[in-house]
Amino acid sequence: MYICVCDYTEKAETSLFVHIWVVVNKRENNGLKPMDAEQLRENAHKMVDFIADYYKTIENFPVLSQVQPGYLRELLPDSAPTQPESLQHIFDDIQAKILPGVTHWQSPNYFAYYPSNSSIAGFLGEMLSAGLNIVGFSWITSPAATELEMIVLDWLAKLIKLPDDFLSTGQGGGVIQGTASEAVLVVVLAARDNFLRRVGKNALEKLVVYASDQTHSALQKACQIAGIHPENCRMLTTNSTTSYALSPIVLNEAISNDITSGLIPFFLCGTVGTTSSTAVDPLGELGKIAKNNGMWFHVDAAYAGSACICPEYRHYIDGVEEADSFNMNAHKWFLTNFDCSVLWIKDRTALIQSLSTSPEFLKNKASQANMVVDYKDWQIPLGRRFRSLKLWMVLRLYGLENLQSYIRNHITLAKNFEEFVTQDPRFEIVTPRIYSLVYAVNSTGKIFISHTVLSGTYILRFAVGAPLTEESHVNAAWKVLQDEASALLSTSLG
Ligand SMILES: *Cc1c(COP(=O)(O)O)cnc(C)c1O
Repeated sequence: MYICVCDYTEKAETSLFVHIWVVVNKRENNGLKPMDAEQLRENAHKMVDFIADYYKTIENFPVLSQVQPGYLRELLPDSAPTQPESLQHIFDDIQAKILPGVTHWQSPNYFAYYPSNSSIAGFLGEMLSAGLNIVGFSWITSPAATELEMIVLDWLAKLIKLPDDFLSTGQGGGVIQGTASEAVLVVVLAARDNFLRRVGKNALEKLVVYASDQTHSALQKACQIAGIHPENCRMLTTNSTTSYALSPIVLNEAISNDITSGLIPFFLCGTVGTTSSTAVDPLGELGKIAKNNGMWFHVDAAYAGSACICPEYRHYIDGVEEADSFNMNAHKWFLTNFDCSVLWIKDRTALIQSLSTSPEFLKNKASQANMVVDYKDWQIPLGRRFRSLKLWMVLRLYGLENLQSYIRNHITLAKNFEEFVTQDPRFEIVTPRIYSLVYAVNSTGKIFISHTVLSGTYILRFAVGAPLTEESHVNAAWKVLQDEASALLSTSLG
């Protein structure tokens, strides 16, 4: 039974309503103790054992799930249970019904799309975050959540040598978003509103966004949400002569044409490590063009940004001084369990002006006095998890040197693989049939790779970056590819 007490106290000056909800569980009929510490200990230990065993046996599963669409509906009841079931019963179902429908992103034989790193440190941080289960939208809702996020993102900014303007000690700062898509959306909104404040709201349909045709579709989605006219999204053509990087000449031309037609260039997105070809846009030159035209310059380094902790790869983001915002996904290649996408911005006021609201029920002294960061004003949702714990654990439990060798090892493995491919002329021949090859390889369940299209040609994508991947896995993967290529060539020739 629930008792609800609503006490409406009208305060003279603020007309503040105070709601007091008293929730009483009627214990006689209902033994539910959803957060009994001893039950938690017992059950969570079992879950940790289950997950540890999963990692121990992860190579026994087909990497790409082999189930057919709708498989699960046949295996599970039509409605939720009325009476409680045992944890053991649920574990049995996970084994028999859920795991077959899982694609094993943490398998050492996973080479598709991009990596999504887990680690013990990331897992422990995730566990603590789930355990505390705070909702840290304003500083006051958990001061440690806000302050740790600011500190850890300043640490990370220093590790990849971002300019000081991005640090929280000045006008800028970092914020953890769920994904790179949310990161680019919030900066498009900030840039749009910044512009419209100056030129007037009616200009919305004239605003133009620029990026290369290799830019992640997240930008297009952001433009759709931000109300940018669909015809004003310039996805400028790239080609193999510039290794699919955006050419400053092409950008300049497009901007001049648009200005001549009375349109308003306002946003440029450069990418470091594009999804199809890992192209690196020339940030310095692009950034100068953006600055000359009063545009916002965002850098998307979602995948490749992590490599910049190694001095020998830092040059990929040379020119980032010109950027207004910079994003990398710590959940891709930085051992931080999903999700943790880090966005740094030079002028936090621009974000806050676009995204802040201040309803009466959230007002508090610290916020009113402007003494604190309230991350609710830096993101789309109100609620937010204590995600910086994961990154903090990763940085502290591993340390910079280990993280650098982690990245270097993957790059060496990828280079080995490149050697294999360039030494095998059949892979030129197979090119027109890459799609069938990818399909055949993934059907074996031994490895999982993906494909893309560049200049009209199907390309096989082989992304090395799973935490468990070792040299032996890359060698074995090459063997699978060779075997399937031979089989494909012999059937199509025979
Ligand atoms: C992965 C990736 C994205 C999209 O990532 P989400 O975090 O899933 O939104 C965007 N841009 C680049 C360059 C990426 O590698």
